[in-house]
Amino acid sequence: MFIVLKSNPDPARLASLKDWLASKDIEIHTSEGATTTVLGLVGDTSIIDIDLIAALDIVEDVKRIQEPFKNANRKFHPDDTVIKVGNTQIGGGNLTIMAGPCSVESEEQLVTIAKAVKASGATMLRGGAFKPRSSPYAFQGLGEEGLRLLSLAKKETGLPVVSEMMEASQLPLFDDVDVIQVGARNMQNFNLLSVLGNQDKPVMIKRGLSSTYEEWLMSAEYVMASGNKQVILCERGIRTFETYTRNTLDLGAVPVLKKLSHLPVIIDPSHASGKWDLVPSGALAAVAAGTDGLLIEVHNDPEKALCDGPQSLKMDTFDELAHKLLALHGFMQELEGGKK
Ligand code: PEP
Ligand code: MN
Repeated sequence: MFIVLKSNPDPARLASLKDWLASKDIEIHTSEGATTTVLGLVGDTSIIDIDLIAALDIVEDVKRIQEPFKNANRKFHPDDTVIKVGNTQIGGGNLTIMAGPCSVESEEQLVTIAKAVKASGATMLRGGAFKPRSSPYAFQGLGEEGLRLLSLAKKETGLPVVSEMMEASQLPLFDDVDVIQVGARNMQNFNLLSVLGNQDKPVMIKRGLSSTYEEWLMSAEYVMASGNKQVILCERGIRTFETYTRNTLDLGAVPVLKKLSHLPVIIDPSHASGKWDLVPSGALAAVAAGTDGLLIEVHNDPEKALCDGPQSLKMDTFDELAHKLLALHGFMQELEGGKK
């Protein structure tokens, strides 16, 4: 980090800034020019609040040259993180297909979908028991009963389960859930993230509706700083000026996050577009971009779905797509292999 000082800084204030930095174990390298003095800071500057320094009256500008996230940073962990869930591995060149309904609605609905997506090649079952809905009058999920049905579908199919936890107090209910999802609206619920950092199930953090890559990685950092290193990032579309689609799928997230971080990156083309007919192209493009997996909403009767029917694939459309995704992934691996 560099601090550019205003000309002729008050010596007492400068001394106080230097003392404070030293108390944080930061080494200071001063370079004095004709008009400007620059302080180069060496050490763990992730603990320094850049806005606090920028607000000082002796400071002209502050620049961070090191990212504020450490645990999630590829610089300090060059190898991909691979997360083992049941018999599948997320990351490290695998393509994990997580599929299932937006919400768990009934035993028959969930088990029917779970069996179908497994037969098509999905390796994880998704399903919301606690649903963050924009309207308080909309279906809020079956809650604890939904989690019970997920356990049942897991027993029937052997598929590990991913489900959203909306608040920390729900943790004891998630015993049989394999991956805990943090929804887009909760991405910056720092209390929830810290609680999930203090338990050992993998956590999948969906990108906030208007969050930058750095904010998203800092959310991963919250979980990791509390001790849990098993974090998955899930891009689910962001808010833009476009209104045709529910959100805008940011496929750039895949190469950017893979460069900045070692954590697995999953793409959710369902929430990204909000329209089932746009899901296949988004999913295939994500595989070509190098995603570690996909989160896809599938329903046995989308027209009657209690949540997100318009973006849910019918089981036969999903079957067709899953085969293409696995074939494309195989082809991409061949291309990558050929490069070496
Ligand atoms: C979901 O996965 O059903 C969901 C609510 O996702 P998001 O948090 O991305 O809106
Ligand atoms: Mn949904």
